Amino acid sequence: MGLSPAELSVVVGEMGEPAFRARQIFTALHRRRLRSFDEMTDLPKELRARLAERATTSTLTVESRYVAEDGTRRYLMKTHDNFPVETVFIPEERRDTICFSSQSGCPLKCDFCLTAKLGLLRTLTAGEIVEQIVIALNDAYGVGAKTPHGTNLVAMGAGEPFLAFEPLMKALGVMADPDGLHIVPNRVTVSTAGIVPRIRELAGVADRPHLAVSLAAPTDELRDVLMPINKKWPLKELLAACKEFELSLKPGERFTFEYVMLDGVNDSDVYARQLANLLNRHQLRAKVNLIPHNPAEPLPYCPSPEERVESFKAILEAKGVQAFVRRPRGRDIYAACGQLAALRTTVQPDLHQPA
Ligand code: SF4
Repeated sequence: MGLSPAELSVVVGEMGEPAFRARQIFTALHRRRLRSFDEMTDLPKELRARLAERATTSTLTVESRYVAEDGTRRYLMKTHDNFPVETVFIPEERRDTICFSSQSGCPLKCDFCLTAKLGLLRTLTAGEIVEQIVIALNDAYGVGAKTPHGTNLVAMGAGEPFLAFEPLMKALGVMADPDGLHIVPNRVTVSTAGIVPRIRELAGVADRPHLAVSLAAPTDELRDVLMPINKKWPLKELLAACKEFELSLKPGERFTFEYVMLDGVNDSDVYARQLANLLNRHQLRAKVNLIPHNPAEPLPYCPSPEERVESFKAILEAKGVQAFVRRPRGRDIYAACGQLAALRTTVQPDLHQPA
């Protein structure tokens, strides 16, 4: 699943097969979303058998599937070597959004995030990233069925995508292919906790996804506690890289900040003013998404009350910073931001097969 058409051509060539077979296999895997060589009945039987001897089409298995009241679906998957992978499918009126993971667990220690408690188990491969999307689409619409809406992707599941930079960029290239899923980088948003060298690197990439940077605090003192990666790349350095990125933006590209709202921790009017001043000082025009925290035991944080979020937003706007409040999805199945890796026994899995 992680091979580009050119790489597949090499494999097919080594097997003594004509080059067009590579395109056929790529289309079967990505556009038709087939999950085994056996299903590729347009290939000669003997070739399917030889392919199965030397390769695997799919390695992730779905362990559990939860469906929320609002239609959000959360999948707990397992890699071939037994590491957990979580993916969330969010249906929306005009398009679907799939939130995928870039790592199993996460090495960063954001204090408000449940995934952090796992530590890093393993960085996912490009194939494992692509497979999450294929599995979610097949579950929602059936194997190979045309999807009724466009699909947006967000790299906001488990893991720090910029610590999985190579497999991530490779997966985005594979998914953009018009013969496959055809989800172009312009449909993808990558969220980082602030890996400064990668933000700078992305500023020089031509065909790239949208960028979101998670801030969570307007001072180093508080951010050191909430997002310890700040000790390595403090706000001054982070925002300088963000400015560099902002200057590289082309029409149609998006760059946003994310600010998780933690009741009584980072949501006061004072912090709102500090945040606005900080962004203005760095001459950053990016909008801020305010995300009410999603409670996840045993984390000691609660979501900010609605009035607090509104007051915080009003202060930002009064100081010229565009702010939006993001509606949580799938909270009842622990599918919302920061909740992945929640105890598997807390909700009943929905094990119905897709229609
Ligand atoms: S918020 Fe993201 S970067 Fe931070 S620990 Fe959780 S998964 Fe990792």
